[in-house]
Amino acid sequence: MSEELLATTGSSVELFEEVGKMGHEQVVFCSDPDTGLKAIIGIHNTVLGPALGGTRMWPYNDEREALIDVLRLSRGMTFKAAISGLNLGGGKAVIIGDPKSLKNEALLRRFGKFVDSLGGRYITAEDVGMSEKDMEYLAMETEHVTGLPEKLGGAGDPSPVTAYGTYMGMKASAKKVYGSDSLEGKVVAVQGVGHVGANLVDLLIKENATVLVSDIFKEKIDPVVAKHKVDVISPQEIMEYPMDIYAPCALGATLDSDSIPKLKAKIVAGAANNQLADEDIHGPMCREHGILYAPDFLINAGGLMNVYGELMGYDNEIIFSKAENIYDTTLSIFDLAEKEGVTTQLAAMKLAQKRIESVGKIKLPL
Ligand code: NAD
Repeated sequence: MSEELLATTGSSVELFEEVGKMGHEQVVFCSDPDTGLKAIIGIHNTVLGPALGGTRMWPYNDEREALIDVLRLSRGMTFKAAISGLNLGGGKAVIIGDPKSLKNEALLRRFGKFVDSLGGRYITAEDVGMSEKDMEYLAMETEHVTGLPEKLGGAGDPSPVTAYGTYMGMKASAKKVYGSDSLEGKVVAVQGVGHVGANLVDLLIKENATVLVSDIFKEKIDPVVAKHKVDVISPQEIMEYPMDIYAPCALGATLDSDSIPKLKAKIVAGAANNQLADEDIHGPMCREHGILYAPDFLINAGGLMNVYGELMGYDNEIIFSKAENIYDTTLSIFDLAEKEGVTTQLAAMKLAQKRIESVGKIKLPL
């Protein structure tokens, strides 16, 4: 462990406390001075199956920031897999450094060897700062890689499945709020028309929703406007714009103490990860403002279902039918939240936890 990490965490005892608080099983520090590799693999929970989650490469300000990120992200993957009925645990990895300057074949293959050394307890995939080509390098050193391009036998781009699951979660939310799951005529604002957002717009237009789109890049907006009749709103005005449904499909943490009171939407249902800036504060705040929040890790799980399908050899039809189940799960979460008087986020976490506990018991020897 580096002096920097010790200095930022105080002592190694505090480091174990930090890890223990979130309930991780194992945290692996991977170091290779020859290639400059500094990576952390977080294995949160493997009760339901091997820990699966992408590898993120990011120029973190310090090692503590990287550690916190991997701990939070890997824990989130546990809940996502559990609530989706998948036999997977939660894991994630981060490589510290600027992908533009530090990334090369040797570093990636060295990291692949570390993944391999875990013998399948952790399965990796693509995340921020990694590309398909990078995953090919990892795959040279380990078979525990998923989310590979179709040409390498993988399931390819997960975004259409993610968008479909998000759409299902949105329809379930409409059912809860309006009594009908039809989105016809509903004003839906899609923030970020990248891979998932653009696919979501296709589905919404097909259902005759009134779609507003917003993105920070004109080149993302242009093809959507050329394809569909949609209105464009600026990134600055989206949070206050009159709308029925807000679909965050860009970055996380857009629901905070400033934005929630201004939001006109009755429903938040989008694909972005970690939409609540602080789930303990902003989950209840959404509720107080009469906003139904469809938990992100539940409705954006289509991408994880896609890689799970790759591991299980499923075809596209099975994967999409799993994503369709997000509709029923979302409704049951809303019912549970209402019955127990808790936020939808908490209800979803409780249901995920319950599955881990009950399935964990049947795994014990007879
Ligand atoms: P992407 O990078 O293709 O698209 C994101 C888009 O958001 C880009 O077009 C970007 O320009 C835009 N954007 C960034 N900041 C913005 C802002 N302030 N206002 C408006 N637009 C902004 O990413 P993606 O694959 O479409 O994923 C979108 C979100 O969904 C991410 O948070 C991702 O973590 C999450 N997610 C994606 C998948 C998947 O299958 N791709 C699965 C689960 C979760």
